[in-house]
Amino acid sequence: MSATSDPASAADSAARAPRRAAETAAQPSSAPSSATGQQRPQIRPQAEGWNQALDAEGRPKLQFAQSRRVTQPPQHLADMTLEERIAKAKEMGLPGFRAKQLSVHYFQHYTTDPEQMTDLPAATRGELVGAFLPTLLTPVRQLRTDDGATIKFLWRLFDGALVESVLMRYRNRITLCISSQCGCGMNCPFCATGQNGLTRNMSAAEIVDQIVQANRVIAAGQLDADVSTGDRVELGEEADDAAEDTAPSGPQRVSNIVFMGMGEPLANYKRVMSAVRRMVGVVPEGLGMSARGITISTVGLVPAIRKLAAEELPITFALSLHAPDDELRDELIPVNSRWKADEAIDAAYEYYERTGRRVSIEYALIKDMNDHPWRADLLAEKLNARGRGWVHVNPIPLNPTPGSIWTASTRSVTAEFIDRLQAKGVPTTLRDTRGKEIDGACGQLAAAED
Ligand code: SF4
Repeated sequence: MSATSDPASAADSAARAPRRAAETAAQPSSAPSSATGQQRPQIRPQAEGWNQALDAEGRPKLQFAQSRRVTQPPQHLADMTLEERIAKAKEMGLPGFRAKQLSVHYFQHYTTDPEQMTDLPAATRGELVGAFLPTLLTPVRQLRTDDGATIKFLWRLFDGALVESVLMRYRNRITLCISSQCGCGMNCPFCATGQNGLTRNMSAAEIVDQIVQANRVIAAGQLDADVSTGDRVELGEEADDAAEDTAPSGPQRVSNIVFMGMGEPLANYKRVMSAVRRMVGVVPEGLGMSARGITISTVGLVPAIRKLAAEELPITFALSLHAPDDELRDELIPVNSRWKADEAIDAAYEYYERTGRRVSIEYALIKDMNDHPWRADLLAEKLNARGRGWVHVNPIPLNPTPGSIWTASTRSVTAEFIDRLQAKGVPTTLRDTRGKEIDGACGQLAAAED
């Protein structure tokens, strides 16, 4: 299925006064019959094989901050601005430009090996690497699929925590899906990562090092040919391509980042933004990536969405909505008890207004849980109520999992869901789901290793 092209212009959109939450359509309290007249069951979200931690009121427990007792990883040059690195080199009694040279090795040549840093005096290489480039991510497993065009990495951090990233080559982009937290405090009942709550926030350098390590793998020629996704939207495609990387032969390093791995990035706001600054800063400050190629995805931490909009960086923003009605979303996405679906959609619209960047709505289609035709209609209504041309919906097909309540919608239900959104003028494209054969859902690989 291809995306409908109904992008009303930004001007047109701005001309329409957005209607706010209170004005949107009232939601039905139970699933009505579908267009075919058949009653559809309503499956309620429920953790399978584990128990969701509950708070004092019996609601799924939410954890917005890490424990104060958590130890942070050693400081790395990617945690610091270039000025801070230069100041540190001077404190060590070395010329400031040594910090610049070291930064070029890391951000441009992806190396931390003193032997390869022949432009640095042999006597100080070891000292510099020890002070600026501590080992942050140790490879545990590397799984390849899609004929070698997808590689899933499992990393062990300095304290034994496990995190994942997934590298995907497409025709015009190389996308890396990265983690931002060890564990997650958002407690979604379908998610392996959230089962044990939040262990700790990843440091900015731990976030960035996933990219540097992936670039090293690409430079070594280990990421193979592209796989066409047909008419499905590719991971990272909602973001514009990083133009300087889009050579006819395809990019030679990671061009697109999606914060869709382990963790809720906006719950680790400060370090995630510091990592983003390292991504977009030009060498030797950082990796020199395009902000437009970076997608930050959230389950809906409304104040943090507003803060992100105020950064005025042209980052792509994605809201993992998964249900347009609070009755279901309260159970499916526990943070909905704090910020309701309409508040999250309002914040997403404000992001568009402030940045001019079209927002993505992520919607995992789960059989008989959130895939009812009336939910497609309600979603379209809520999005259109705020304006046209500001949003794109990406339904995400789940793996078929026989016997589980968390299983894929049928093809016909999926097609009807998409058709209904498109018929109401909402651009909608089924998302590609790379890495399915290797436990593609976030956190599954780390959970298996535990
Ligand atoms: S789905 Fe995302 S936000 Fe929810 S628990 Fe998993 S990692 Fe956290």
